[in-house]
Amino acid sequence: MLPSNAMTIDVEDWFHILDSSVVPDMTQWSHLPLRVESNMERILLLLADTDTVGTFFWLGWVAQRFPRLVRRCRDAGHEIASHGYGHLLAYKVRPKIFQQDITHAKSVLEDIIGAEVKGFRAPGFGIKKNCGWAFDVIKESGYKYDSSVFPGTREHGGIVDSPLEIHFIETQNGLLPEIPMSAVEIFDHKINLFGGGYLRLASKSLIRWGIKKIHAQGRPLVVYIHPREIDVHQPRLPLGLRRGFKCYVNLKSTMAKLRWLCQHYSFSTMAEMAKSFESQFSWAEAVSEKQLSLHGQTTGPEATYRIRSVMGKLRPVRLVSYSH
Ligand SMILES: [Zn+2]
Repeated sequence: MLPSNAMTIDVEDWFHILDSSVVPDMTQWSHLPLRVESNMERILLLLADTDTVGTFFWLGWVAQRFPRLVRRCRDAGHEIASHGYGHLLAYKVRPKIFQQDITHAKSVLEDIIGAEVKGFRAPGFGIKKNCGWAFDVIKESGYKYDSSVFPGTREHGGIVDSPLEIHFIETQNGLLPEIPMSAVEIFDHKINLFGGGYLRLASKSLIRWGIKKIHAQGRPLVVYIHPREIDVHQPRLPLGLRRGFKCYVNLKSTMAKLRWLCQHYSFSTMAEMAKSFESQFSWAEAVSEKQLSLHGQTTGPEATYRIRSVMGKLRPVRLVSYSH
């Protein structure tokens, strides 16, 4: 049985907002006041209060400045994972640059905690269908699972037709377990109610309804937040009406919603979730499309199927490939 849910935190600061000309670039970051530490203190306290474990996707740049905070986070039983080093949007950079960035982040974090960093999440969930090479790079860089897929439409990324459940991505370097963001289907639209501005705007009753729906489909709840989302006093960037609304709406509601989620649902780390997912399977044999049709499966343009043993029963498992 899969662990039920994941509470995930992308550890970055108030100015790590993507894809806007008014956002300071990396050369300016070290001249700006940092607020991430005090926001993290509050999040860690809330998780300790509610006996909740989380998965923290640290930006390498932030981790380098607060190594003791990273270790404290680890010592509190949370998972330390990677959000890259310099907050790059995968679809805006070349594969080599992306690889250097995420490899650097992994080694920075591993040096700090003295243990392997298994998980990766791309900034902005910024892996689109047209940069599926990024999954090859993530696997090649030594990550054991990925949580970058946003299965819906979104400003910086999103892969609309990707599976909603945990699945394997077939990369050039082997299979990569993918734990996508939770989405619920409403009138043919895939909506996320469990992170960022969506979580801040949605009512508790709507969120509860969404969680019921994804649990009924046997899927885990994945919550995601950023430390700046609990910070009502953070400096405001002149992002314009629409982006400004998305970034700053309802910040005062975040802590109360997080507390409510932590009190009502149980969470485990993503590494445990990925391990539990993988442990259900053992390879049996590759099969042809003809054999698959016997199982009532159809093969889409980007999906292949193989027979795997699942809890002692053979069944076709969809492997998704974005780059071939
Ligand atoms: Zn980010």
